[in-house]
Amino acid sequence: MSDISLSGGMQNVPQVKVGPVQVAAFSDMQQLLEFIVQQDATVFAGSAIAINPEKVMTAISTPQIAQVIAQADIRYADGIGVVKVMRKRLGYKVQRIPGCELWQQLMLRAAQFQLPVFIVGAKAEVNQQTAAKLRQQKVNLVGAVDGYFTDEAALIAQIKQSGARIVSVALGSPKQELLIQRIRVAHPDCFYMGVGGSYDVFTGNVPRAPQLWCKLNLEWAYRLLIQPSRIGRQLGLLRYLWWYLTGKI
Ligand code: UDP
Repeated sequence: MSDISLSGGMQNVPQVKVGPVQVAAFSDMQQLLEFIVQQDATVFAGSAIAINPEKVMTAISTPQIAQVIAQADIRYADGIGVVKVMRKRLGYKVQRIPGCELWQQLMLRAAQFQLPVFIVGAKAEVNQQTAAKLRQQKVNLVGAVDGYFTDEAALIAQIKQSGARIVSVALGSPKQELLIQRIRVAHPDCFYMGVGGSYDVFTGNVPRAPQLWCKLNLEWAYRLLIQPSRIGRQLGLLRYLWWYLTGKI
């Protein structure tokens, strides 16, 4: 199949094209975690972005966003709609990797190896709560700056100076991906992850969908229910569903 390929650095991970977006078919979260932080504590220098149907639709309609997405080193399947397309193409099961869970697991792995972590983003209070909770989990936190900073150059200098090996950025997309690109130029030997609303969920400020909803792959519907303002963003999902059912994606 021409739209499945293997890419450099991830030889054992097939890449599947979902619309214009190439997504890495990690079999599950553990495989991705061990790729980011290896057993000998080596950290992958690069960036990861979660791919869901909303991002695929934005990539189709907005070439600049498609480019931002393509520039990340790892695109992993965060949405069930993306996983469905991948399973169909590959002919075997790959697991969905929810970005929020991946980030929480990565923090635990960073704690295990005492890797220096820097967190950027969310409201000041949420950022502080996140920092406190991470410290409780024995994460070696070397910096925490909320998402409403005014001096970007100072932030980048602070991250570089901190010696962080893992930086997570919660500003929403594509803001977080664009900031990551700029930080990377100054501080390349580091793993970067855009995490959207993960700190809000981690600190309990936004409730995570109950387990049953997650099991039924209805997490997106739950988010819509508690944040109805997301409706505009999610309308594109109907078109995605239609394209999926008619084999266009
Ligand atoms: N945010 C921020 N600075 C900004 C805009 C947003 O720190 O200038 C934060 C906001 O407080 C929230 C997160 O970015 O914590 C965005 O979450 P959202 O759920 O919209 O992101 P998604 O996961 O949908 O991309």
